[in-house]
Formats: sequence, C-alpha cells, structure tokens
Amino acid sequence: MAAAPPRAPHRARKRFGQNFLHDHGVVARIVDAIDPRPGQAIVEIGPGRAALTGALIQRAGHIRAIEIDRDLAAALRDRFPANDLTLIETDALKIDWSIHATLPLRIVGNLPYNISTPLLFALLPIAEHVIDQHFMLQKEVVDRMVAAPGSKTYGRLSVMLQFRYRLVKLFDVPRGAFTPAPQVTSSVVRMQPHAVTELPEIDADSFARVVAAAFGQRRKTLRNALAPLLAADDIAAAGVDPQARAETLSVQSFVDLTRRLAAKTI
Ligand code: SAM
Repeated sequence: MAAAPPRAPHRARKRFGQNFLHDHGVVARIVDAIDPRPGQAIVEIGPGRAALTGALIQRAGHIRAIEIDRDLAAALRDRFPANDLTLIETDALKIDWSIHATLPLRIVGNLPYNISTPLLFALLPIAEHVIDQHFMLQKEVVDRMVAAPGSKTYGRLSVMLQFRYRLVKLFDVPRGAFTPAPQVTSSVVRMQPHAVTELPEIDADSFARVVAAAFGQRRKTLRNALAPLLAADDIAAAGVDPQARAETLSVQSFVDLTRRLAAKTI
C-alpha cells in the first residue's frame, strides 16, 4: 500500500487564537512549574503543535488533550500513539467536564486568548474535581485575575476567581516566544482551588449575581449598583458602606453581601 501523502503545512488560524510556543526555554519553565507525574490525570487545552504536549507526555507518560482544529488534531494523532495521548477533538467551551473528572484533574494550557475568560468561568463549576490549573494567558488578564481590592484592574474576574482559587502569577512570557507573535505579553498563572471545606456556605449563583451587579456599573456606588438586589440598609447590615464602589471591596465583603441577600429572600 502506498504511504499516505505528507500533510500540507499547517497555517496558524486567527479564529482559534493560534500563537504557537517555539521557545524551548519557556516550554521547560512551564513544564517545570507544572511538575507532571505519572498517574496524574492531566488535561491540556489546545495542544496545537504539541510544544507543551510532548514535554508533558515525556514526564507524565500519558495525558488527555482537547483540540478544536481538525488539521492539528490529525497531526497529533499521527505523532502520538493513543497510549500516550488521548485526544478529544472538540470545543473546550462545550465539553462536559464532569465525564473527564473521574480522577482529580490537573488542567494546563497555553490558552487561545479569544476564549480564555469564558473558559475560566466554564471551569469554575468543576473546581472541586481539580487539583490545579496552569494557564498561559494575556498578561493583562492574569493581572486582572490576581489584582487586589483598590487596584485599577480589580474587577468581576478577580472576585469570582479569588473566591474559588488561590492564584499565583508565575512569570511573564515575551511576544517573541510565539509564532506568530501575539500583540501583547503573556503570563503564566497557577490556580489551586480552595478546599470545599474552606469555602463559605453560600449559594454560588447568588454570589455571581451580587458580584456581576456590583461591577455592572463600575462608577456607581454600591447603593445604586445593587439597588435591584439589596437596599442601602441591607448593604450596611452586611458591614459594607453603601457609598463605597465595588472595586474597593474584599472578596469577604461580597460573601457578606451574598449572605445578606440570602437572609432577605428566606
Ligand atoms: N499549546 C500550543 C502551544 O503552546 O504552542 C498551542 C497554543 S495556541 C495559543 C491555542 C490552541 O488552542 C490552538 O491549538 C487552537 O487550535 C486551540 N483552540 C482554540 N480554540 C479552542 C477551543 N475552543 N477548544 C479547544 N482548543 C481550542
């Protein structure tokens, strides 16, 4: 039988946020930070041309990866035997994560920038099945994730993620480490879910509603921004100044406001 013709070279697709890592030093630094071990359930989002995938497999023996680009998926199948790589060819935003979380997951990826924020939110509900997440993202997004109250970049993303994870910004990665080079610097972040026993007992949807409303109108005082949910007296009863603005509040204050909302609706 004639050998299959060689595949045409793959061209980076903007719509899939494809900026491929080519800097071996950066790959080694990321994989060292992850420290993958055999037996761990490692899932890579967007393996692309396997810059991280190969190094992860070398250290863990086997990983799972989710790739949306059919041509890249075909090339990955050619390169890695199924014993090393379980490839899930789909959109990471649409995946049913619960079926992959039979073991506690370690999720990693140089994420496509166009879907990074929705993906971070999509992963929140499975946090209790996750050991950790290591992601490369736009530096600006990582700065928002780890921002402290009172800083310019502190917002909904900071509060929603800090409530659920311990976040550590690890290091920046310059544009030149990728082909094609993205417009902006990237950063690597580590996310470790807080133990369920450490989480305050509040309804996650109510918390999300309070946070979204508070930051929905950034320039407004909480009294105005939260008016559809809580009266000024309720805000004060939660120990929060109704004249304050959302960006000055700690994550704990958002928890206190959510408790107040629950007390009101009982
Ligand atoms: N990991 C590779 C690297 O570091 O060079 C590629 C990173 S590239 C920034 C993002 C990868 O995610 C691409 O391979 C792209 O095809 C894939 N991707 C984009 N959108 C995706 C989605 N919704 N679900 C799964 N993979 C996606």
